[in-house]
Order: sequence, then structure tokens, then C-alpha cells
Amino acid sequence: MLKKKIYSFYKGKRMITINEHYLKLRASYLFSDIGKRVAEFKSKNPEKEIIKFGIGDVTRPLPKVCIDAFHKATDEMANESSFRGYGDEQGYAFLREKIAHYDFQSRGADIMADEIFVSDGAKCDTGNFQELFSQDITVAVPDPVYPVYVDTNVMAGRTRGFTDGRYGGLTYLECNARNGFVPDLPKDRPDLVYLCFPNNPTGATITKTQLEQWVDYARKTRSLILFDAAYVAFIRDDSLPHSIFEIEGARDVAVEFRSFSKTAGFTGTRCAYTVIPKSCMAYDSRDNQHAIHSLWLRRHTTKFNGVCYMVQRAAEAIYSDEGRKQVAELNDYYLRNAHYIVKELRLLGYECFGGENAPYIWVDTRMNSWKFFDMLLEKAGVVCTPGAGFGKCGEGYVRISAFNSFENVQKGLEKIKKAIR
Ligand code: PLP
Repeated sequence: MLKKKIYSFYKGKRMITINEHYLKLRASYLFSDIGKRVAEFKSKNPEKEIIKFGIGDVTRPLPKVCIDAFHKATDEMANESSFRGYGDEQGYAFLREKIAHYDFQSRGADIMADEIFVSDGAKCDTGNFQELFSQDITVAVPDPVYPVYVDTNVMAGRTRGFTDGRYGGLTYLECNARNGFVPDLPKDRPDLVYLCFPNNPTGATITKTQLEQWVDYARKTRSLILFDAAYVAFIRDDSLPHSIFEIEGARDVAVEFRSFSKTAGFTGTRCAYTVIPKSCMAYDSRDNQHAIHSLWLRRHTTKFNGVCYMVQRAAEAIYSDEGRKQVAELNDYYLRNAHYIVKELRLLGYECFGGENAPYIWVDTRMNSWKFFDMLLEKAGVVCTPGAGFGKCGEGYVRISAFNSFENVQKGLEKIKKAIR
């Protein structure tokens, strides 16, 4: 009754309207679909144990160096002489200098501390970055893809609706077994390209030569590469580039995203950073160039408050000798899981990709990926992630995550073996 009255009062008058691009987003999200199916299975089989190889969250605690740094920094906040209030939104110099030295300069990448922006997540940064560019830019994303790159461009109105597994107006760079899950250079130049290596979900890595080709392409076509290196800490083959800035000329055409989430178990602690070389330019409608660094600085200082002091001290701790050792051990643990999963699945006859320099294993199931998911859940009580949820090219594959205890990995593989044999 009241509703009706309100409606008739406002009828014909102006009301707040929504950003209708949100309505184009696919109604259900991959992990909520998985959650629903797992919950249903649980309610039907309350006695059955479920092993989760699905969501890519870390399971091991923070390295001891980080915990010690946390405690020390917390104690500093208890004293007037060492207390800190608002910090530099770009991040404290002590952290940015360590990042510049250890993650870039020590590998020959010419990156300075003031080109680094500390943040609370690579998800936010990869998602927000597109805001700097006009609505009519053309965007290319890998397929399969980390969904944030796509959804944030949908929200910004750069796409049409979702039909037949894809959004109209986006360029999808197909990644498959033929190209080793490294996208070919597109024939039609996009303004903005997202690349992610080591890759989520395929676990693929990119060689120096392949990355050089991409940088060359971006320089020739004046496009910008957004390079997501959230999983860099899993690279063990030293011939692989850790950063796009190890490639000559990349400073002018690339931005890189890194995160402490997977590197050092910070998924709940939150710390990441974005690297924007000062020589990286974008253009206005009159073809005047503008430093992307200045645009992001403006955005970051306007919309972001900085990462808390204790967290930045904990992040800094991973760059000490002991910190680097502890981080390597932490990630070696997950890589051991990955190697075990690959070995056992291959023995069962499955073709596996990734898992070498990445915590994800991309398994060719030779069937519909949701059917395989259901089969694994029903018969083995094991949860994986259907590849179709990451894009059309993911159909037929599932992603298995190595973020787990070794005991669980062994148990899960035993269950899979029993179910599949
Ligand atoms: N980029 C990729 C490719 C990821 O897979 C993830 C997390 O799953 C992120 C970024 C997010 O990192 P963060 O925890 O720093 O937001």
C-alpha cells in the first residue's frame, strides 16, 4: 500500500538511476556456482570428506620474519615517539626502496622507488587501472582470463552484452595448447592489453623472446600492456623474465602489478604494488601525451589511503636475507604440491600444463569441464575449478590449485585415483 503511494508520488519525477553497465555482468560468479554445488553435495553426503583444490587462496601462515616485523611495528604504534599517523599514500619509502632494489634493479630492470605505488591488492589495482583511460578504448584480454580484467571493463561500459560466452566489444586473445597458452599478437591493435604471467588459471609462463615480441608490438602500435605478475614468486627457471621491465623498451609501454598475497601469504593481510615508469605515456584526444604515472598518482592520492604501517613493515621483512629464504621455502612447499599433482595426474593419463613455475595445474579433462567437476565431486569428494568459468578457451580444462597442505594433496590424489580407475 505504502509502496504504491510512494510510487505514485514519484511517478514522472526524476529518480536516482544506476550504472546500467552493471546489468550486463553475468548473473552468477564462478566461485559462487562452485560453492552452491559443493553445499548441495555436502547436504546430501554429510559424512563425506571434501578436499578443496578449487579457490586459489594460500593455506600456510605468514613467514616468521613478517610476524616479527608486525609485532615490532605494532609496539612502535604504542609510543608517542614512534607512533605514525597518516602515511604517504604511495607507500613508505623504506618499502618502495627495497622493492625497487630487490624485485627490479637486482634483475637489471631500471625501476626507481618513486615509480612504485604500494596498495592493498593487485585485484584492486588491475581492476581500477582502466579508469585512467577513455571509455572508447579497445581492450584485449587473454582467454582463459582472470575475471577482474573483464568485469571491470564491463562496469566501465566498454563492452556490449554477454552472449555465447563472451562480451561484445572486447578482443579475446585465445590461449590454448597450440600456442602454449601464450597469446599470439593480435591482428587488430588494441589500445590496452592485459597479460598475466605466470598465468592464472593455466599456470603458463612466458619466455623472454615471447615477451620481447609483445613489447615490440606495443611500441610499434602505441598500445599499453598491463602486466600482472602476481605469481612471480613461483618462477624457478631463471631464464624466464620475472618482470616485463627486464625487456628493453618496456618502460615506455607497460605497467606491472605485483602482490604479496601469493608471494608471502598476504591474502588476508593485504599488500601489493603497481609499477608505473615515468616514461610510460598515454594520449588525449588532441594527441598530446601525458605521463600515466601522474594520472595514477592523482587517482591513488585522491581515492586511496595507503596501506597500514605494520603491514608495510611486514612486507619489507621479506627482503632481508632471512626473509628471502623463508619466502622461497614457503613457495617451494606449494611447488612440491604442484609437482606431485602433475606427476600423479599424468600417471592417470591426463595431459597437464603449468605447475612448474606456477601454483596452478591446468588439466585437459577431454570432456566438458563442469561435467568433470561434478564427476570429481560426486565420485571423489574433490573440488576443482572448471576451466569454462575462466572463458570459452577454458572449456575442456579444469584448474587445480597447489595451495593446500601436502597431506591434503596426497589424500585428494588418492581419492581421485580410486574414483577414476
Ligand atoms: N592477479 C591475479 C592473476 C590473481 O590470480 C590474483 C588473485 O587471485 C590477484 C591478481 C589478486 O591479488 P591480490 O590478493 O593482491 O588482490
